[in-house]
Amino acid sequence: MVKKALDDDAIVYQEVRVSRRDGIKYILDGNEVDIWAPEFRNYHSKTPVDYIRDAILDIEKKNGDPFPDIVGKEKEKELVKTALFSGSPILFRGERGYGKTTFSKAIAKLLPEKILAIKGCKIHDDPTAPICFSCKSKILSDETIELTWVPRIWVRIPGDPMLTTRQLIGGISIQKIREGYDLDHPEVFMPGRALKANRGIGYFDELGAVPTALQTLLHELFEERQVSTSEGEIVPFRINTIEVASTNPANYRGTSPIKEPLLDRMEVIEIGPPATIEEEIEIARRNCFIGCKEQPPVILPDWHMRLMAYTVTLGRNPKESDTAKKLQVPPSCRATIKLFDHLASRVILSGGRVPLLKNYGDDLEVVVLALAGRIELEYGVKESKAEVSKMLFKEGLLKVAKEVYQRIPEDSFNDIISELMNVGVAKGGVSSIVINPSVVKDLRDLKHFSSVVYDLCGGYTEDDDLFLSSAEILLYSLSMCVPRYVVKSRNEFIIKKVEDK
Ligand SMILES: [Zn+2]
Repeated sequence: MVKKALDDDAIVYQEVRVSRRDGIKYILDGNEVDIWAPEFRNYHSKTPVDYIRDAILDIEKKNGDPFPDIVGKEKEKELVKTALFSGSPILFRGERGYGKTTFSKAIAKLLPEKILAIKGCKIHDDPTAPICFSCKSKILSDETIELTWVPRIWVRIPGDPMLTTRQLIGGISIQKIREGYDLDHPEVFMPGRALKANRGIGYFDELGAVPTALQTLLHELFEERQVSTSEGEIVPFRINTIEVASTNPANYRGTSPIKEPLLDRMEVIEIGPPATIEEEIEIARRNCFIGCKEQPPVILPDWHMRLMAYTVTLGRNPKESDTAKKLQVPPSCRATIKLFDHLASRVILSGGRVPLLKNYGDDLEVVVLALAGRIELEYGVKESKAEVSKMLFKEGLLKVAKEVYQRIPEDSFNDIISELMNVGVAKGGVSSIVINPSVVKDLRDLKHFSSVVYDLCGGYTEDDDLFLSSAEILLYSLSMCVPRYVVKSRNEFIIKKVEDK
């Protein structure tokens, strides 16, 4: 190519489309390829919206779930699907920690795992529809076009009041082109983060925190073919991006409102907390770092998972919990995930495999660690965040105790107390059971007691650690629900005799 043979200014605005007839030579990994052949056909000439519509149609036909990574949220999934299918940008609105980012990543998974792009292009241009200046000029001057595979594109653009135009948008410097800089020179075209999302998903995390002036530029970038920045740069093309944004509710600290024109073109979808305790648990199981992945795995029994999930979800529920009324910002799913992780860590560090109540710490340090930093108290609340966290845990424990107590068949209640009375160490009219591995054998021999223990475990188990953990929660439930017969004191349960009726 003869340098400057083409009118640079004109190319900037020219639309370039390549069809098979144009006979452009494409090279991939050193070999000439026919990009129109079936094996390459799906990886160019399509927009992210095209890909996503195809994927949704395909999954719909099989009655599948387009967002298998999202737990629950059936209604929200339907709305997202509809908005995407109509090519609308989406704004997820909700408190921190309820999966807005996960949702945006789940949307990206509907794109192909990789696409073909023009090699060296800063915004991974489509081989047949380049929008950047440099690629357009390569095509127009009939060069051989080198291609490369680019993995699926998901770019997070964090909303930050200090964000500059260059960081967010960047652009082409006409000045530098006129000065004769090479088109590939880094100062000629500097794409900001929003442009790097070309051909993929741009995730504008906390859109409300993007400075107002930049929000206006974003609107131009999405809607019009040209943006001119105050730095004298231009973006003379429309990027092919699906915009997904997130925002906290308007009254949330540190967030300014989203500008009307920008807001107007997006579909707002509310993302709230998980609808059920089971969903809360499933999210924690999928996202926890240690609990489920460690080898040998830490076993988190159902009652411990429920206890941890209740500790967090009660904080969101002032109708059920007075402690929740003390919270201005309740704990999100991240608190549950961290609680799972911290408990599992404690279990491993103490040399165990299955948690016991003592693993939460003598002063519930594990609970405080996971929760205290993730809540905000209402003005005027006397307790500390640590104290409020512990209060939530105790409410959760009571809730689990009641659930476990419900599992005891009514007609075996007296037998269970008598069995426990006999198996414990006699101490002046009462009997003491200490929770440690040495009592497992004796407890297994108790017909009625062990039958409830196994029921809690989901069936007979040979696992002594699991048995002990289950026996502990059952004894604990008795101490909470029938304190006349069972009293907990530190690591020991005191059993009192059932009086004859
Ligand atoms: Zn390019």
